[in-house]
Amino acid sequence: MFSFELIAHSTESRARAGMVRTSHGVVETPVFMPVGTRGSVKSVTPEELLAVGAQIILGNTYHLYLRPGCDVIGSFAGLHQFMHWDGPILTDSGGFQVFSLAKLAKISEEGVTFQSHLDGSSHLLTPEKVIDIQNCLGSDIMMCLDDCIQYPATRKDSLTALEITTKWAKRCKQTWRESETEHNALFGIVQGSMYTDLRQRSAEELMIVDFPGYAVGGLSVGEPAEVMLEMADYTLPILPDTKPRYIMGVGTPENLVELVALGVDMFDCVLPTRNARNGQIFTQFGTINISNAQYKEDTEPLESGCKCYTCRNYSRAYLRHLYMARELLAYRLNTIHNIHYFISFMKQMRQAILADKFESFRKDYYQKLEN
Ligand SMILES: [Zn+2]
Repeated sequence: MFSFELIAHSTESRARAGMVRTSHGVVETPVFMPVGTRGSVKSVTPEELLAVGAQIILGNTYHLYLRPGCDVIGSFAGLHQFMHWDGPILTDSGGFQVFSLAKLAKISEEGVTFQSHLDGSSHLLTPEKVIDIQNCLGSDIMMCLDDCIQYPATRKDSLTALEITTKWAKRCKQTWRESETEHNALFGIVQGSMYTDLRQRSAEELMIVDFPGYAVGGLSVGEPAEVMLEMADYTLPILPDTKPRYIMGVGTPENLVELVALGVDMFDCVLPTRNARNGQIFTQFGTINISNAQYKEDTEPLESGCKCYTCRNYSRAYLRHLYMARELLAYRLNTIHNIHYFISFMKQMRQAILADKFESFRKDYYQKLEN
């Protein structure tokens, strides 16, 4: 059921527009996926996600595996029913959270052992197990277990992580094939830290295993933005044109426009949701902080011309008041605007690619930021 179709290519850059088909619906790329870490995009409902134009959301395997667990989600035949979201869902493998959240994470050839950050219980995630968990979640797009190394990393450590990532990718593919119910896809994840030859090797090894799509992992882990873009610029053209390309955990609107120019199709990031809860609002003219005193009596919406529910109905003064008073509605209304902004931004980029005007879109974007 899973397929990817390229619709248009920019003639001035590597930007491209496509269509990902899943059994839960079609995703028009380039696309931004809101992050629903624990089976919820924080503070908003699935109806609100649909209203802002979300086409696909991301769930975190690590969190959902630990709580509520596959016994609970499995009894709902998966995450879609459990959380009442009928659209496509991509789940990560859990590897990234094991290293960023869990205690005593330890890698061996077999898999990764760790202690839950919730109750200290011990767990082992193997490539086979992460596929089983993602099958239980009913993901439309699942990810291979990978060894996402920290930044900076030595060449030796990066090579070891790359080799484990390839071995695990083969085992993930094998388990996925055996369990394949023909409704989902499995993506491989390119590692190699900030070494171009290792990036190339990782990509080539994964392409031999052959996946329905590829992610570039291990970016946005603390490296400067130029290095992130340099690695993406180097790695993306190695990957097959006919498969979707996903950059994990990136990023700012500036990162998105640059990475779309390099040919990325899919993105996820907690930035619009997390920052909304901290009062930071994204607009086409840059970010604003709603707690700023200058908005105290401001009767304008967050962003003039924005068609989101928040901007159609509420003023900056009211949103600032909610935020300063720690009213729960502040988080929801700010989140609606920020996700709407990211999704509309991607849609505008897609339109620009279809019209073969991506470069002028990019120029306009930077010009507005300067004003
Ligand atoms: Zn808005």
